[in-house]
Amino acid sequence: MSQKYAQLLEKLHTINDVEKSIAVLGWDRETYMPIEGNAGRTAQVATLSAIAHELSTSDELGDLLAAAEQEQAGADYDSTPASMLRSVRRTYDEQRRFSSEFVKRSSAITGAAGAAWAKSRQDNDFASYQPHLEAAVSLAQEFAEILGYEDEKYDALLSQHERGLKTADVRRVFATLKSETVPLVMAIGEKLDAVDDRMLKQDFPIEAQRAMCHYAAESVGYDFKRGHLGEVHHPFSTSFGRNDVRITTRFAPEFAVSSIFAVLHEAGHAMYEQGVAEDLDRTPLGRGTSSGIHESQSRLIENQVGRSLGYWQLHFPELTRHFPKQLAGASVEQFHRAINKVQPSLIRVEADELTYNMHIMLRFELEQSLINGELRVADLPEAWRAKMQELLGVAPKTDTEGVLQDVHWSQAAFGYFPTYTLGNLYSAQFVAAAKQQDSSIEADLAKGDSTRLLAWLHKNVHQHGSKFDPAALCERATGSTLTAQPFVDYVREKYGAIYSL
Ligand code: ZN
Repeated sequence: MSQKYAQLLEKLHTINDVEKSIAVLGWDRETYMPIEGNAGRTAQVATLSAIAHELSTSDELGDLLAAAEQEQAGADYDSTPASMLRSVRRTYDEQRRFSSEFVKRSSAITGAAGAAWAKSRQDNDFASYQPHLEAAVSLAQEFAEILGYEDEKYDALLSQHERGLKTADVRRVFATLKSETVPLVMAIGEKLDAVDDRMLKQDFPIEAQRAMCHYAAESVGYDFKRGHLGEVHHPFSTSFGRNDVRITTRFAPEFAVSSIFAVLHEAGHAMYEQGVAEDLDRTPLGRGTSSGIHESQSRLIENQVGRSLGYWQLHFPELTRHFPKQLAGASVEQFHRAINKVQPSLIRVEADELTYNMHIMLRFELEQSLINGELRVADLPEAWRAKMQELLGVAPKTDTEGVLQDVHWSQAAFGYFPTYTLGNLYSAQFVAAAKQQDSSIEADLAKGDSTRLLAWLHKNVHQHGSKFDPAALCERATGSTLTAQPFVDYVREKYGAIYSL
């Protein structure tokens, strides 16, 4: 390895070690830390974050970067050094645009907005939250102006989560998704009683859930030698490097099925991180390339694998072994229908695979209007209700069940929501491409075996870490840019069969 590039790498390793230490502290906060530890932990994280920010915006890093760029000028575009330098240059230039005054002000605004949001949600009191949300919207607008954009302001926000993707691209694929799946949801709405999911609404012993969740994570290929399953209120996964990627779930007696699907979801995220090539570890490329691609991996395992009939034909005996009383007399076909019940509802995080995207399209449309200044924050609750009616045929009676349900906007995280649905679309496109490229994958999945699919994902997605932007990765893996069609085909076939449409 060349000398200048090696020097840069050494510095990147240091920055990475600080960032991953922050992640360890964060994981501990959510799992084992006693409640009184919070103030001390906040200080520790703030100190390490300041160190990481200083290191990653320093003149010294800039000099190392410039020297390495000169040395590696002829490197092949696909090579690790060329990809590394592209990525580091982009982040470095971006971060240097934000003054420490802006960074400080932004954490003060979002900190206050977060607290106001939690209280107003509890009290169903949008008015007290409104000034905080107005400040968060202005902050996001300012952020976009500092970062710059070619076509529209929202592009700058979107690109923070989905590098290189334009708002117009998302509008185009979402338009197809909307016109193809809203009628499907409405048709299912006429036959809601066709699927009975009462078997899922019982008390399931937590000890048995724990065992089943462990089994489920292993069944899809999550590596426990390089992982760990923890227990939290809001499930997440976190990576400290490819050899230590942890997942979490939530256990409550009435949540047996959701704890299992949360584990499958987080295992999908985690296997992406566990699959990153070894030479990218401890560098900025040693992680998933975007929120949307990350979400594609979790949703692929949770839905395309975990909610398939083939998967449960193989694993239902294990499930009934853990819950003999609850599932007595239930067939695997009945269980498969129950876990795929479609139900237009008010709350995003409780939505099924099909109606979930409506919740996202609603947020995507409202976010653009807010950022463009076409919609006033004061008019947001009413706009929310109207869009819910249009997309799902239901509308919330309270703001707690409407506009106040998500934390994201109080964090000024505009541009993030669309990545959930992009994840659904990418996941269907990946599975369709994998089946097309290797015909044995379809037969394997029908038998509940996802080993070969995982190998395909490893080769085409996981190992690359962040070497390629999402659009480039998608095109390399599937031969085409993102389209809604594979997802539309998938849900038509699946729900057409379940609901006899
Ligand atoms: Zn996720």
